[in-house]
Amino acid sequence: MSSHCRQLRLTLMTLTLLSLTLLSAPGISVATSTSVGRSVDVPIKVVLVGFDQSAVDLSYLAWSGDSRNLPSSVVNVDLISGNTTGVVYHPKYDVSFASSSFTNSLVAYLESIGREFNATNPWFGQYQYLENSDYYTSVPMPVEYVVYDANSVEEWLWNQAQEVGGYPDNGWTIILADLHDLPSISWEDVAAFKASNGEVLPKNKPHYYGISHTDTDLGYNLRFRDYMNAWGGHHRMWFVDVSAGPVFNSEWVDLPLQVVIEDNQINLRSDFGKTWLTEYLADYIWEATYNFVAPNFVYFPQYAANYEIDVFVFDDRTRAEKQEVPIENTVNKDAMLAAWQELVPYSSVTVNLKIQDVPAPLHDVIQSSYKYTDSWILGAIFGQPEQYGVVDLRPVYKYVMDDFDSLAPNVKPAHGESYGLFDREMVSGKMTIPVFAFAFSEQTYFSYTYKWFIGDTDWETGALLGIALPEAAFVSLNQWTFTRGNYVDPPQPDRGLGFTQTIIHEVGHEFGLMHPHQYGDIGDFTVSPMGYFTDDYKFGVIDKDALQRAHVDQLYMETENLLNQMPANSNAAGQVQSKLAEAESLYAQMNYSAAIQPVLAAYDLALQMEQSTASAAAQTPIIYLVTGIVVGVILGLAIAMVLKRRKKSKR
Ligand SMILES: [Zn+2]
Repeated sequence: MSSHCRQLRLTLMTLTLLSLTLLSAPGISVATSTSVGRSVDVPIKVVLVGFDQSAVDLSYLAWSGDSRNLPSSVVNVDLISGNTTGVVYHPKYDVSFASSSFTNSLVAYLESIGREFNATNPWFGQYQYLENSDYYTSVPMPVEYVVYDANSVEEWLWNQAQEVGGYPDNGWTIILADLHDLPSISWEDVAAFKASNGEVLPKNKPHYYGISHTDTDLGYNLRFRDYMNAWGGHHRMWFVDVSAGPVFNSEWVDLPLQVVIEDNQINLRSDFGKTWLTEYLADYIWEATYNFVAPNFVYFPQYAANYEIDVFVFDDRTRAEKQEVPIENTVNKDAMLAAWQELVPYSSVTVNLKIQDVPAPLHDVIQSSYKYTDSWILGAIFGQPEQYGVVDLRPVYKYVMDDFDSLAPNVKPAHGESYGLFDREMVSGKMTIPVFAFAFSEQTYFSYTYKWFIGDTDWETGALLGIALPEAAFVSLNQWTFTRGNYVDPPQPDRGLGFTQTIIHEVGHEFGLMHPHQYGDIGDFTVSPMGYFTDDYKFGVIDKDALQRAHVDQLYMETENLLNQMPANSNAAGQVQSKLAEAESLYAQMNYSAAIQPVLAAYDLALQMEQSTASAAAQTPIIYLVTGIVVGVILGLAIAMVLKRRKKSKR
């Protein structure tokens, strides 16, 4: 694609004025900034499998723009500062139907690998009164189902590219399939189950895609990982089977297509039915575009030559608990280093791990911020009494910030004064990311309260295991998570969950990465440590593309900005342009990690030019412009409060 990317100049005066106001605010300093933006085309091939061609209106599907069927542009934003990164993505969709022979061979392949089981499934919950008759709880019922190994299906689809005209090697492929000829749940099954409060089990077996995951620290096998309706992320490809499910992590929105068609009495042969199905498919494509192809960031994804991650593990457990699970077994420095190094292969990554008993003054703050939850109302909201320990995070956060230099000597906060803006110092320097991980006693977690409300910290239904705050990540696990296997059915004696995965996830946020479910829960059905479902240790193509591309983009824009301040047509400017062109060509092939080296060379050359120009010329005042369009800072902060918390789904 020759027009894969092109430059766009943003010189809107109002934005510049806004930016200058921000820059003159106390406490905000910025080394350099840019007025150059980038506009990037991304090819997205969409393959529809098993759909009746006369039931989908392709020209209506292609109707794109704000609030239309598909996005025509996606403004890339760092949500915590509310700034854009200066990049606008333009998805270029190419939608086609797979042949019926392709559909038949996919179905035949799935039938050959399907396995049948009968096991409890959280979507199929029966409301019961457990220990306390004040509350009723959804108890998963055993349901027969068919499961296909998700990774095998992903590889099969990847290898069948030629059967559907090939996949773009400089873009994405999204496969939407309706395979209701496979064993699939019906509307009658769902209605009978719900109407009888789980007494009438489905007559038809639902089908699913499954993975498995074992915690490498303490050996716990995550439960309920057979129940997905989508998968992808080893390649730039993701498939969703809209006839699979129902899936518990998206209880209603992603109900199987055949269920919602019958429930809503949609006639797919009518004009209304055709419009309805077309919009339904568009929404899946929209979601995948935002979650995977052009994801936003939590924090500004700052490039640095060196990343130093300083992990401080504070053990606040009893002597007996420490003996039962030695703290050294709960965290794996090598696994963390391997994950982050693979995320930024062109930078130097070091990990310092310090394990210690919690210092006495910090222990006192924890104790005075400790409460045993005992709220009847919270019990009613969450369907069960929540009687566990919570440590109010805010006073601990404040204590750690006030005492930062002694708790974390020679370590800088992750996002300090240049918060949300490009930091020139870090390009050749170092970004430090501190992590404060606490091992609490019994079943105690950090809680980030809102007004009187304590978040749902029962981690079977969603726990605050960690939070990526601007200066540092905070993580809390406890003896109960370390020995989680003793409390599940069937039991997994003495197996549990350690810190490694949660720390990799939280530091991923500090690098800038977002959750893959930000724009739809089934986005978690992808290879990534950033979701709540797979608990991967290695970053997926989604994470690597997003961060590495952002690094190239920001260096590219900074270089162009420097060039714009120089005399044109000089020898040096030509060298810079040539390096930029080299980077651009690799970028166009989505080879972002390789594009770093030439774009860095261009940036360094441009910096040298700037310095020699500056020493030659008289000091001229430099007006700093920022790329960031300050959009909805308040909204951004509100969103950020939600998204940076880490909730866990059932496992
Ligand atoms: Zn998170």
